[in-house]
Amino acid sequence: MTVIRAIVTDIEGTTSSISFVKDVLFPYARKRLPAYVETHVDRPEVQHWLHEAAKEAGLVEASRQEIIELLQRWIDEDRKSTALKALQGMIWKDGYEAGDYRAHLYPEVAARLHAWRGDGLHLYVYSSGSVPAQKLFFQYSEAGDLTPMFAGYFDTETGPKRESASYEKIAEAIGELPQHLLFLSDISEELDAAKAAGFHTAWLLRPPLTVPDEPHHPAYTDFDAITL
Ligand SMILES: [Mg+2]
Repeated sequence: MTVIRAIVTDIEGTTSSISFVKDVLFPYARKRLPAYVETHVDRPEVQHWLHEAAKEAGLVEASRQEIIELLQRWIDEDRKSTALKALQGMIWKDGYEAGDYRAHLYPEVAARLHAWRGDGLHLYVYSSGSVPAQKLFFQYSEAGDLTPMFAGYFDTETGPKRESASYEKIAEAIGELPQHLLFLSDISEELDAAKAAGFHTAWLLRPPLTVPDEPHHPAYTDFDAITL
């Protein structure tokens, strides 16, 4: 008999809509970036990341305005830049704390996470957003602070989400054999990688998506439908 001891969940498209990140968080950072940089330019970490961004772009003598425009262009291109991620993270933190938005969750998610915890399961997050961004996301969710629910967080520092080695590392960090772990995601390639590492998988296909005739993974439209 299968014994699931811990669940590792993706965020975007799984616990939450992709559009919250795309249509709320990214435009917010883009809009706030110039004012944020101007008002926080004395902070050493802001200085540091502006400098890193300029360096990454190969700009030797860039004005503050040029760096801001560069960063906004990177947001539009969804560029994977550590400097951009760090600055966005600071801006999003301000936005969460100011109550400008709360992280979206599909309606059944919080109660189901509670229920799984009640059953003694340990819960983890694995998302391409940075670990600090994941923590903010669940701290300021529509269902309140869910961070006490999670035992740990993983991001792409552990490895790419479509490579099985990443899931092997996660299993090792959790301290459970992969056959006791369940990975939840909306992306079949991520589930393929998790399965190759020995995880159980659950494919979240949120409406209006539909379950294909022969899904490669057990497929569900919401968390309540998942059978352990
Ligand atoms: Mg996803």
